[in-house]
Amino acid sequence: MALIDSFGRRINYLRLSITDRCNLRCSYCMPAEGVPKLQHESMLSYEDLFRVASTAVEVGIEKIRVTGGEPLVRKGVVSFLERLAKTPGLKELVLTTNGVLLGEMAHDLRRAGVERLNISLDSLKPETFKRITRSGDLGKVLDGIAAAEDAGFPPVKINMVVMRGVNDEEVLDFAALTLKKPYTIRFIEYMPTLKCQGWHEKSFSGGEILERIGERYPLLPLVSTEMAGPARNFRIEGAPGSIGIITPISGHFCDSCNRIRITASGMVRGCLFAEKGEDLKPLLKDDDPEILRETLRRIVTEKPDRHQLADKESGGVAMSQIGG
Ligand code: SAM
Ligand code: SF4
Ligand code: SF4
Repeated sequence: MALIDSFGRRINYLRLSITDRCNLRCSYCMPAEGVPKLQHESMLSYEDLFRVASTAVEVGIEKIRVTGGEPLVRKGVVSFLERLAKTPGLKELVLTTNGVLLGEMAHDLRRAGVERLNISLDSLKPETFKRITRSGDLGKVLDGIAAAEDAGFPPVKINMVVMRGVNDEEVLDFAALTLKKPYTIRFIEYMPTLKCQGWHEKSFSGGEILERIGERYPLLPLVSTEMAGPARNFRIEGAPGSIGIITPISGHFCDSCNRIRITASGMVRGCLFAEKGEDLKPLLKDDDPEILRETLRRIVTEKPDRHQLADKESGGVAMSQIGG
């Protein structure tokens, strides 16, 4: 059964956050002091997360991305993923991680049935990496990427949030990685999700990123598949890897949006920038699965057509709380 929203978009992709906690403090995602932690009782148990996810698959979701916070810091994540991977009707289970714990967990994740990994990495320079993440050790993430390869994952997708004056001078270094490795490097426009005056100064548009890479390397456009998401994809001539540009700010991809989100506390959002989510927790106390199915269908029907983020001066939500 397909889930179609009121603008005719087919919704088949769920981003499922399993925790708001994180072992990094990326400056664009969290305030330095972190975000107020969810109390244990407001977090969905794995049992409830599984119920929500499998109901979403029953009503039409085909791909689930497990995210956070940092999903790998939640205890028991591997067993949860193993169970989730077996959900009848689920076509793809993928995970987004900062890579810090991958060195020790990549093999277990592969065995659990995770099909692909997206790894967030915003700098290849240890000092810049530490500044952006406010604590991180670049070596651990690089070890994590190597462990993912060793565990037999398909070539990783690396997400780089490009910020003017912070890491934009590394765009070409990241692009050049695709000449050596079969990775997909996805350049993401910085979004003003935290209350952050003057975010425009840091923003670096997808157009500028493409121009910078195009001045140095010949770029060939690639065709996207339906499940591939909102990136525009390219390959540097002769490169084993590819390049994706994700432009949530400058190039609304809302027209082809196929996703809904569920947070670790059970708030479901039809859109990343919906004013508020709807709380699934009270419904989970009820044993009637039809109520949950109906609610998920309604959230899809009420999904807004687009966001007005580029017109606003500031946001006010931490991505770690809503799952990026
Ligand atoms: N901790 C994991 C990680 O970093 O990959 C998963 C959660 S994180 C919230 C998911 C994605 O959101 C990351 O790729 C991160 O770079 C992105 N993100 C967070 N805040 C952002 C912002 N203000 N602008 C653009 N991307 C952002
Ligand atoms: Fe943590 Fe990911 Fe947010 Fe960085 S982007 S603070 S790793 S949740
Ligand atoms: Fe979809 Fe909302 Fe993101 Fe637009 S802003 S792509 S509608 S989730």
